[in-house]
Amino acid sequence: MVGQTLGPLRFIPGKNRGRYPYCNSVYIEEAGILIDPASDRQILSELRDTHAVREIWLSHWHEDHFRHLDLFEDVPFRISERDHPPLTGIETFLDWYAMENPEYRAFWAAMVRDQFHFRARKPAGFFQDREIIDLGSLTVEVVPTPGHTPGHLAFYFRESRILFMGDYDLTPFGPWYGDLLSDIDQTIESIHRLKAIPAEIRLTGHETGLFSGSVEKLWDDYENVIYERNRKLLNLLASPKTLDEVVSAWIVYGRPREPEAFFEFGERAIMKKHLDRLVKKGRIDQNREKFQIKN
Ligand SMILES: [Zn+2]
Repeated sequence: MVGQTLGPLRFIPGKNRGRYPYCNSVYIEEAGILIDPASDRQILSELRDTHAVREIWLSHWHEDHFRHLDLFEDVPFRISERDHPPLTGIETFLDWYAMENPEYRAFWAAMVRDQFHFRARKPAGFFQDREIIDLGSLTVEVVPTPGHTPGHLAFYFRESRILFMGDYDLTPFGPWYGDLLSDIDQTIESIHRLKAIPAEIRLTGHETGLFSGSVEKLWDDYENVIYERNRKLLNLLASPKTLDEVVSAWIVYGRPREPEAFFEFGERAIMKKHLDRLVKKGRIDQNREKFQIKN
């Protein structure tokens, strides 16, 4: 089977280096558990046909992590209770992205249904924060890592010291925290929590996905993306700006990108989080539609 064996685990890289709309999957051989089934439909189909997949675990509710869950309709899956609501129906799913623009909503509804095979499904159970799961020869610690999503989970394989970190993915793009219930400060706390775990190997949901040895510099760069977005925003707000004007500065994505329903939506979502946080912290003023730095 394709993939890379890491002690008791098999790391299955996603198509296109695990870039969205794909992600890297992890398979726990002995227990027949597949984490985040969205890497490569063909490989996952083969895994289903040739190996026993007895349970699916989801790190969080995002579509690029459940894309091929439909291959495993008769297999029980688990997720955190906090991240379960968007999997109960497409309208709730879109609400959780705080998606208000009707055109964007229509684009996303079709995409999530057709490309990501969204089906409302009931989980067999929920993970508890800090739950210790005994799989016989391996012990897995469930690590709550809210911020990206409220119920995002990492999984730490204690004996082999392998940590699967989901979307705390150490990519140059940096963290996403643009959903209705995403939170910048929780994201920072989760980064610190993951950083403190003495893992020898770190696996992530996207891109490189497999890191051994020291990743100190990568962690710093990843966290600094947040502060850099914030710094650029504060510079921009030296003179008053509306949210639309902030969005058109493309601080997150660097330049205008298509489709708008994806990139303009994402830029707006992340900038809104920064603006709300800066207002709350008393760093900027909001006067009607305009935001400006406080002197
Ligand atoms: Zn995600």
